[in-house]
Amino acid sequence: MKISFVVPVYNEEKGLLKFYNELFLPEVKKINIDYEIVFVNDGSEDKTLEILQELAAHQKSVKVLSLSRNFGKEMALTAGLREATGDAVITMDADGQQPPSLIWDFIKKWHGGAEVVTGVRGKFEKHGLVAKIGSKLFYWILRLLGTKDTVPGSTDFRLLDRVVVDEYNKLTEHGRITRGLIDWMGYRREYINYVYGNRLAGKPSYNFRKLFGLAIDSFVSMSSTPLVIFGWFGAIITFLSGILGLFVIIQQFIMGDPMGLRWTGPTMLAIFITFLVGLLLISQAITALYISHIHAETQGRPLFIVDKKQSRNLDGKKKS
Ligand code: UDP
Ligand code: MG
Repeated sequence: MKISFVVPVYNEEKGLLKFYNELFLPEVKKINIDYEIVFVNDGSEDKTLEILQELAAHQKSVKVLSLSRNFGKEMALTAGLREATGDAVITMDADGQQPPSLIWDFIKKWHGGAEVVTGVRGKFEKHGLVAKIGSKLFYWILRLLGTKDTVPGSTDFRLLDRVVVDEYNKLTEHGRITRGLIDWMGYRREYINYVYGNRLAGKPSYNFRKLFGLAIDSFVSMSSTPLVIFGWFGAIITFLSGILGLFVIIQQFIMGDPMGLRWTGPTMLAIFITFLVGLLLISQAITALYISHIHAETQGRPLFIVDKKQSRNLDGKKKS
């Protein structure tokens, strides 16, 4: 049994060795497992790569995968997962915020039959109000958009069984959010609550702009509900203005204005234009639905995923 650790690193020269020597090593030694640690250098501009290479020169279990430039954590994780060879893969950050002391808890859940174990961020220690509200809002919208499987506070501190990693590696879509994809994949899941600690050193590289982009990516890649909402909006407008238009025609022109409203030309025009706006919204939503279907096709996700670990008597691989 071998565990792979995948750790994306971007400009972590200050805390990296501390993470490895003081947090990571003592934990894996305690558990006494066969392991490898795959550091993915995500185009760091500081001494991170040199430190990693030096580490790899002395430790056989340390592998270094270096990307040609900064591709972002999502891509770094994806690259690392392709490189990992263990029976299970644990992904975690290099800044110490995701405590390696929990590694054993993850493995225990895995031994207990879980195929995906996700670390859920319980409390925020050094996070400001904006981050808290932002995170709440993010999960609220995600749920509203129909991705009900996402547990609020889920992080990328996660254990994946080999069967999950193999399937994940087959996914080809570009605008990817690891979290959303793993949630979409299903499998037997368990959760571990933990407190997001403080950074060992340095500053988080995710600023508001990046996080906002990530949020938009999540929404767009996971759901087409926004389009549907606008479609409904258009339908309601068309319906109401249609009724109003009919009322005016019947009341004023057919019955000769018994209610004495004396609605004038501009009123009629306003109603007519509102009616057309509604129609436009509907037709836009329909176009957008076609685009979302094209989008889904280009994402090229598998139609379904077989859980090879749980299936029996299929092709002789698993007979028990
Ligand atoms: N990271 C990365 N590429 C990036 C940004 C971050 O590989 O472009 C790494 C970073 O080195 C760290 C992890 O991803 O190990 C989480 O990053 P960070 O601490 O900045 O984010 P947060 O803790 O706010 O999620
Ligand atoms: Mg961090």
